[in-house]
Amino acid sequence: MTWRDVAMSAAGAAVLGLGRLVAAVQRFAALQDRERPLTTAEQEVLRRVFHGSLDDVRVVEGRAGLFDVVPHPFTLGTTIYLKGRRDPGLLVHEAVHVWQYRTRGARYATEALWAQARYGTRPVGGAYDWRAEVRRGRTRWRDVNPEAQAQFLQEVWDGGPAVRSALAREALEAVRAPVGPSPGH
Ligand SMILES: [Zn+2]
Repeated sequence: MTWRDVAMSAAGAAVLGLGRLVAAVQRFAALQDRERPLTTAEQEVLRRVFHGSLDDVRVVEGRAGLFDVVPHPFTLGTTIYLKGRRDPGLLVHEAVHVWQYRTRGARYATEALWAQARYGTRPVGGAYDWRAEVRRGRTRWRDVNPEAQAQFLQEVWDGGPAVRSALAREALEAVRAPVGPSPGH
């Protein structure tokens, strides 16, 4: 572990800790929808990608309180805030963040925010653009930033040209490997 790793983990833990605190207050004050387990349909989607390793993901369907300042779905640890969206590809995208949290701990959050700060969020050349990551020399799925990893598997789910690539094989193998318990939650 380098100092950078330590700093990324500490910053990620602070972000997730703050998020959890907000979520706890919002649950108490009924400012966000109740968390629920995955529906059967959602579970089927995630099983096809993750082979059952994410069956215990929780979902907040609609109102997200303060988190509604971000207009798109987002994930806090193992809880996915769908913001009323029902697109299975988006569910896969967010579930990749749960997988990242499970396998890398809180640092995934810092890495995702860092990538967005560095490359922006535009569709071409931004943090989500996995092709741009490959052009930057990150030719393995495990090396692309967390947003590009999530976007890549979203595209695989949606049946885009990514499906039959070596990167897809590597990605699916990675997310289907057994995952240990959540770090500290
Ligand atoms: Zn994302």
